[in-house]
Amino acid sequence: PFRPAARIAEIGVSEILQIGARAAAMRRDGQDVIVLGAGEPDFDTPDNVKDAAAAAMRRGDTKYTALDGSPAMKEAVREKFRRDNGIEFSTAEISVAAGAKQVIYNAFMATLGTGDEVIVPTPYWTSYADIIRIAGGTPVLVDCGPANRFRLTAAQLEAAITPATRWLMLNSPSNPTGSAYSEADYRPLLDVLRRHPHVWLLADDIYEHIVYDGFRFVTPAALEPALRERILTVNGVSKAYAMTGWRIGYGAGPEALIRAMAVVQSQSTSNPSSISQAAAIEALTGPQDVLAARRESFRARRDLVVDGLNAIDGIDCSRPEGAFYTFAGCAGLLGRVTPDGRRLASDRDFCAYLLDEAKVAVVPGSAFGASPFFRISYATSQDELREALARIAMACDALR
Ligand code: PLP
Repeated sequence: PFRPAARIAEIGVSEILQIGARAAAMRRDGQDVIVLGAGEPDFDTPDNVKDAAAAAMRRGDTKYTALDGSPAMKEAVREKFRRDNGIEFSTAEISVAAGAKQVIYNAFMATLGTGDEVIVPTPYWTSYADIIRIAGGTPVLVDCGPANRFRLTAAQLEAAITPATRWLMLNSPSNPTGSAYSEADYRPLLDVLRRHPHVWLLADDIYEHIVYDGFRFVTPAALEPALRERILTVNGVSKAYAMTGWRIGYGAGPEALIRAMAVVQSQSTSNPSSISQAAAIEALTGPQDVLAARRESFRARRDLVVDGLNAIDGIDCSRPEGAFYTFAGCAGLLGRVTPDGRRLASDRDFCAYLLDEAKVAVVPGSAFGASPFFRISYATSQDELREALARIAMACDALR
């Protein structure tokens, strides 16, 4: 019989994928399911980016490139950090991989061993904890509830640090909550880190460009040059430029870490796709006006969803600063009974009910380590969002 390796034995298939699979099966049965689960923009990759990829193919850029990014790609990443974040990196401090996820994977594989701890503010993107476990480390989940808009406080950080702590993981704007850290939110956390020189910081900035209402995005490495020697800043083109399928992400940090990450990558994927790198260069260095137009479209959808959810008795949704998710509380619905007599005991029950009754797929907070909440990804058309909200409202009304 099949016997999995110990390192993956305790890691289950993500709840998000399971819900996606159920929704897909219902669709195949002819049911009209609206899926608000996917973590990707519904927009298409911009034409100038596609053209750059086509040109790269025709030019013969179809061979292996340098292991962790071609020189031109690293130059584009340098330019991005200089332009958007005011940080000057050398190309030796930059690593390019097949998505931000691989950058994070490389970093944890390159640094974690048995007993090493990583502080992960919760709710969190599920992959963080699983990658940490695969790498042999221990995720230390710190519950960050709605009171502080799901953000980690300095006191919580201070209390979570032990001699075994290797990293603090921060994600702003956040998947799944959409909450973001302003400069004022970051400062006290960075002060704590300054006092604990053995703790490094991994800043996942993948939603950098999706922020609203004039929110000023900042990244820790720009705020605290004294900490630059232990910050890895991770970003990518997936979300900003609607390029999830191209698989390009990048990281910037201390050269010794970047070199160790390259060792991991050298024995897994080697270089990310040469064609995708050409496309990402165009995304990062070409016209940037697509970002503002899409941001505005996301903002309108966010407001539609937040207002629609708050109009439903029993649901409570704060207005997030960024990303394309809402993370609403459903405590007010628990204990209620469905028309066919089932009592909703958890956010998982509520989401299963929404899928069965309203034919709307959303993800329970439990999938991100926080209950009772549910995540909606609003990266879909306003028409579809309106229809989904109407269905959710009707399903909630039908509860007794
Ligand atoms: N980080 C966060 C918080 C995400 O939500 C995602 C994608 O869902 C990623 C990283 C990975 O992005 P990529 O497509 O670059 O691997």
